Amino acid sequence: MSTSVIEQALKQHHVSLTKPRKQIYEVLSHNEPLTMQELITSLPQIDKTTAYRTVALFESLGIVQRLQIGWKYKLELSNQYQDHHHHITCLQCGQTVALPEDEVIEERLLALAAVQGFEPKDHQLEVRGLCPACRQSA
Ligand SMILES: [Zn+2]
Ligand SMILES: [Zn+2]
Repeated sequence: MSTSVIEQALKQHHVSLTKPRKQIYEVLSHNEPLTMQELITSLPQIDKTTAYRTVALFESLGIVQRLQIGWKYKLELSNQYQDHHHHITCLQCGQTVALPEDEVIEERLLALAAVQGFEPKDHQLEVRGLCPACRQSA
């Protein structure tokens, strides 16, 4: 997704697109969900405080969301800013992989929510298990 999207989103909130904000958005849009630590490591030119502040700003504006994995979390762009998908996370090495979109699952979830009288807006679905490499070493 191009940076004009983030520029517009920030403009709406009267926030300017600084270089660190642009870089953090770009890293998140080109990667699988990242921990805060991974995000910081991948952008050594940005100091830690700026990175934390930027992520907090993006969260408050609904640009970034937390993907809860057990008691930890990873950061990813919210559904408005990237295609909706689900994840599978390895319990051993912690890597997270996106699962391909599946219309059947999406429709099922909508139908199940509708049974409860809900109009669903958003959901996260996360599968936990062992990745191929960790399965081999187990
Ligand atoms: Zn693994
Ligand atoms: Zn889904």
